[in-house]
Amino acid sequence: SVDRLPEIQDSRLRLPVLAEEQVIMEAVRENSFVVLCGETGSGKTTQVPQFLYEAGYASGTGIIGVTEPRRVAAVSMSHRVAKEMNLSTRVVSYQIRYEGNVTSDTKIKFMTDGVLLKEIQKDFLLQRYSVIIIDEAHERSVYTDILIGLLSRIVPLRNKKGLPMKLIVMSATLRVEDFTENRKLFPTPPPVIKVEARQFPVSVHFNKRTPLEDYTGEVFHKTCKIHRMLPPGGILVFLTGQAEVHSVCRRLRRAFPFRRGEGEEAATDYSDEMKKFKKAKHKRTVSLPRIDLDNYSALPVDEGDEDRLAGIDDEGSDLELGDDAADTEEKADPSLPLYVLPLYSLLAPEQQAKVFQPPPHGTRLCVVATNVAETSLTIPGIKYVVDCGRVKKRFYDRVTGVSSFKVSWTSQASANQRAGRSGRTEPGHCYRLYSSAVFGDFSLFSEAEITRRPVEDLVLQMKDLNIDKVVNFPFPTTPSAEALVAAEQLLVSLGALEEVKEMERARLSCPISPLGRAMASFPVSPRYAKMLALGKQQDCLPYVIAVVAAMTVREIFEDLDRPAGSEDESSKLAQRRARLAQMRRLWAGQGASLLLGDLMVLLGAVGACEFAGCTLKFCEENGLRYKAMLEIRRLRGQLTNAGVDLRVKLCPEVGVFVDCKMAPPTESQVVCLRQIVLAGLGDHLARRVQQEELLDPKWRNGYKTPLLDEPVYIHPSSALFKTLPQFVVYQEVLETTKMYMRGVSAVEPEWVP
Ligand code: ADP
Ligand code: MG
Repeated sequence: SVDRLPEIQDSRLRLPVLAEEQVIMEAVRENSFVVLCGETGSGKTTQVPQFLYEAGYASGTGIIGVTEPRRVAAVSMSHRVAKEMNLSTRVVSYQIRYEGNVTSDTKIKFMTDGVLLKEIQKDFLLQRYSVIIIDEAHERSVYTDILIGLLSRIVPLRNKKGLPMKLIVMSATLRVEDFTENRKLFPTPPPVIKVEARQFPVSVHFNKRTPLEDYTGEVFHKTCKIHRMLPPGGILVFLTGQAEVHSVCRRLRRAFPFRRGEGEEAATDYSDEMKKFKKAKHKRTVSLPRIDLDNYSALPVDEGDEDRLAGIDDEGSDLELGDDAADTEEKADPSLPLYVLPLYSLLAPEQQAKVFQPPPHGTRLCVVATNVAETSLTIPGIKYVVDCGRVKKRFYDRVTGVSSFKVSWTSQASANQRAGRSGRTEPGHCYRLYSSAVFGDFSLFSEAEITRRPVEDLVLQMKDLNIDKVVNFPFPTTPSAEALVAAEQLLVSLGALEEVKEMERARLSCPISPLGRAMASFPVSPRYAKMLALGKQQDCLPYVIAVVAAMTVREIFEDLDRPAGSEDESSKLAQRRARLAQMRRLWAGQGASLLLGDLMVLLGAVGACEFAGCTLKFCEENGLRYKAMLEIRRLRGQLTNAGVDLRVKLCPEVGVFVDCKMAPPTESQVVCLRQIVLAGLGDHLARRVQQEELLDPKWRNGYKTPLLDEPVYIHPSSALFKTLPQFVVYQEVLETTKMYMRGVSAVEPEWVP
């Protein structure tokens, strides 16, 4: 039995889900699959695992598994549940991609959905678990969808084997038809239990006009007005990304300053933030002179993959910042203190935890948040919601593979979720900064992620699970046939799938090759997995690992293009830009290594940073994002795994490089690295447009790719901007002001077939 503290017991009793405990547990006892819907904050995530624990689902050999689409939720919910149950984190634990505190005593395990997917590869029947909860299913993340499809098959197999297992799917919205009405998924529709949350009425106020340009300014003014004119109650502001959040926080703090007490630091300055733990149609195979494409190896990898994109909507392009120099019209008013807190998924956990605490006496709480506050986390005491109506998403062009971050209108369902945040403790108000006509044009629901992104990583993982006909898989929402075909083609061109006759190919049933199995063992997407699989040759592995780690972590360089808040900041920024440019030149090396291009810069940066002990100081001084560098270090550790150890050895004679295992690559290793990179990115080949082909001035210095009609360019910050090699491969094309290739490396013409 569980021995809870009295104050915990009190607050539990107020949660709507508690009233349904019996109904839920009865449904679970009598059914293998149960769907549970309940408003955000009704207590699903924190309470249902406890119900199961108390009903004995973790008393035998099996344990309770809970999956979350976001790392933050897995970590913070495991801590919260341990605390509520008065149990150690040895018993209520978490596992995310690189870290966890799971022990042999663990009974309730929170994890990201990617971690569970990897576990299925090791033990298809998931025999360690007696029950799996798929949380936040309404988010429709790709791994969530796949897991539900797999579990719809695993659970009956377990039952047949006499080792019964339960699946509970939890959603914050009532839109669960994709799960319940899908006969391919569940032949008998699972019961749906609805938890009625106490929801107070929310008055929704639309703007008459819809600001199309400066919506962060509009958000700022509306928040100021609420704070000045309306009765007490917390304000929750929805914006689209981390940069906007910081910009609006800064403006609000300037407008309504308050003297902070002990233990509270002003979080106004960017460097302060840092300190607080800032933390296609494919090409033919390319023949390579030195790297043997049939000589590959797998690495044993213990931990699961992680949906790296989960955090990206927050992190994405921090380039378009709001204009925060222009808020002089709001005179600072210290008589009305506002306690302003940012909230986004990459924020350090201890910063995030602040939103759960009451604001300092005499102040009003104002949380400026991204989508995380929509369903994952519930903030107490919110009476006013300010909704910009937008969301930042990554968009892929399925044909060209070009991706870009775009801010677009959210869905009606999301806007209603956001509004609902204001009516949890008393009647609330939601200010929508767009007109009701615009709202009427929003789509009803957000699309499932699986319909919006490339699926080659999923297809490879599924083939490794011996699901050959991916097209027959019981997806809650099936990805488009086009996306599946593109994925199979890419995997065939990478050698991960055996090429089969045209006719069978049409039915999407290429089997996995031995190389594909090796590739599937790496927790990175197929292009990078191929590089890793080839990496053992010529002693290149440590370099390939470092480059791949750096390529899969987005934005290792600090964004120095943001507008400065003050003159002082502006000169500091200029200095840092100059410093970063200088360091990039140094990291790019000279002679042969220069041709590895931007990937050499990454390799040099990783090497230099490790050499300096991967400190915050080094990162700040050299324009690197500390948090990214730590993540690279962890990923290197994971990929290196049992083999090489990463202890830093001082080798001054080799300059910027880390340990002796990472002395700078020799000239011939650089050539091999370029070939390995080409083997992974062969479908991302671009050819420089020659003088005589110049039909239109826009093609000057442009590159031609097989898929795009428009030219793509080498970015001025690239190591190869001055060189402009005849052939290059690139990591991706990102459309900003122009179509720019990112992660460019030079290719010798004779390597191109
Ligand atoms: P749901 O999953 O239905 O959205 P949760 O179980 O996450 O609901 O939350 C239930 C309640 O627990 C909410 O009122 C929330 O504010 C509270 N809560 C969750 N985490 C914490 C925490 N770390 N500290 C204090 N309260 C928390
Ligand atoms: Mg929840």
